[in-house]
Amino acid sequence: MQKKKDNITTLKPVKPCPICEKKSMQKFHPFCSNRCANIDLNRWLSGAYVIAGDDKQDDNIELEQ
Ligand SMILES: [Zn+2]
Repeated sequence: MQKKKDNITTLKPVKPCPICEKKSMQKFHPFCSNRCANIDLNRWLSGAYVIAGDDKQDDNIELEQ
């Protein structure tokens, strides 16, 4: 049995990872790793959450007891 090697060749220059500025991988484009992709996703999600949650000041929340 032959072990298949990863031979992903990048034909065009890749931009550095926006998170850690390492060389980005095609597989995780535009990030260098899945970890950095998740970091970016979390940033995006937390940002979206703040914007969405900002609306609650107009809500009349009545507690039912
Ligand atoms: Zn990175």
